[in-house]
Amino acid sequence: MFESLSDRLGGVFDRLRGRGALSEADVRGAMREVRIALLEADVALPVARDFVEGITEKAIGQQVLRSVTPGQQVVKIVNDALVEMLGPDTAGLNIDVSPPAVIMMVGLQGSGKTTTTAKLAKMLAGKERKKVLMASLDVNRPNAQEQLAVLGTQAEVSTLPIVVGQQPVEIARRALQAAKLQGFDVVMLDTAGRLHVDQALMDEMKAVADIARPNEILLVVDSLTGQDAVNVAQNFSNQVPLTGVVLTRMDGDARGGAALSMRAVTGKPIKFAGTGEKLDAIEAFHPKRVAGRILGMGDVVSLVERAAEAIQVDDAEKMAQRLAKGQFDMNDLRAQLGQMRRMGGLGALAGMIPGMKKAQAAMANGAVDERLLLRMDAMIGSMTVKERAKPELLNAKRKIRVAKGSGMTVQDVNKLLKMHQEMAGAMKRIKKMGGIKGMAALLG
Ligand code: GDP
Repeated sequence: MFESLSDRLGGVFDRLRGRGALSEADVRGAMREVRIALLEADVALPVARDFVEGITEKAIGQQVLRSVTPGQQVVKIVNDALVEMLGPDTAGLNIDVSPPAVIMMVGLQGSGKTTTTAKLAKMLAGKERKKVLMASLDVNRPNAQEQLAVLGTQAEVSTLPIVVGQQPVEIARRALQAAKLQGFDVVMLDTAGRLHVDQALMDEMKAVADIARPNEILLVVDSLTGQDAVNVAQNFSNQVPLTGVVLTRMDGDARGGAALSMRAVTGKPIKFAGTGEKLDAIEAFHPKRVAGRILGMGDVVSLVERAAEAIQVDDAEKMAQRLAKGQFDMNDLRAQLGQMRRMGGLGALAGMIPGMKKAQAAMANGAVDERLLLRMDAMIGSMTVKERAKPELLNAKRKIRVAKGSGMTVQDVNKLLKMHQEMAGAMKRIKKMGGIKGMAALLG
């Protein structure tokens, strides 16, 4: 999901990043590319247009933060706009009411409505320890009620006994009564789907909603259907008071635009994402995480978020001067590691230094954690002042001493030295390229 969009946007930002200054034309050019990328990902045209207009204005008007490059700032602006488009926060279910809470599931046939009903029921019964009753109101599709009963058995959730010949409104009424009498916390009503949106379906849903007074009306849409999903959502939201959307088949390789347009079109939050056929393949929808996945630049975003507060400007300036001379000893490396720790994995040199870039990618993946940084710090701590200033002094004997002193192995010491060497080499190259200006901009 989102892979091609992510790739496209990545390309746009790669061209922006690492540049000292951006002209208005640079920003406008990049934003045109963002717009094309969104449209290709199936984002609805008006949604893409509004999105790009908003970010262009911000990106051009924005004061560039100290410590980050303008390109990184633009990534952050796009990220924030994506989060806003997807919804500011994870939206939970409004079921903390006097029981029974009623959740009504609506959507087209084949959207995954029945499966999602069972998934949510299982989640509520399990994690939240709710007593849940499911009822199928689908009297059109043969076996729809039986299907829910089977899923109920799998999910270990009760289903309302089937009474042949009963109509949806009556079934809903019976479900509510049963829930009250038997002390259920939550009633889930799985309504009938249709192949297309039609008036009979809408009327039926309205009638059910009138008597069931649901706390939640969740629209289930298949994210693989792209623009159709958006149209379906618009139709439903015009006729029934939806409280949220569930996107199914997010495990598929759709272009993702449906997800991006959904909130803008319905004004309702995406609450859950279905990610497979199994009953536990459902996740709360986290706009921030999804935006991060799309941009694949969580590192840059948090860098910008934290830059202002976390970078100690004095240190950064001092380091910039040293780096400008092509100097980079163990003390500099240590300062960088400290900064990475303070910033949750991001030094001010983010992305510019080969060895560091890898370490950061690993940190972003959770493969390198704070402990590793602390261990590296401990190794540098075990070096003498002279060794720190001149790491080439570290011969085999000295390495053993450093390893012992820090509780690490000689191999670890070697790895640290190699990383330092790579970084020092990069510094020299930056100096050669006359990159003082770029470094200064990067470091504040
Ligand atoms: P309904 O007609 O809307 O009730 O749709 P169903 O719940 O019967 O689902 C139709 C098909 O989609 C079933 O085979 C489900 O297993 C499958 N399905 C539902 N949700 C997901 C999902 O999130 N991912 C995948 N891969 N399949 C899903």
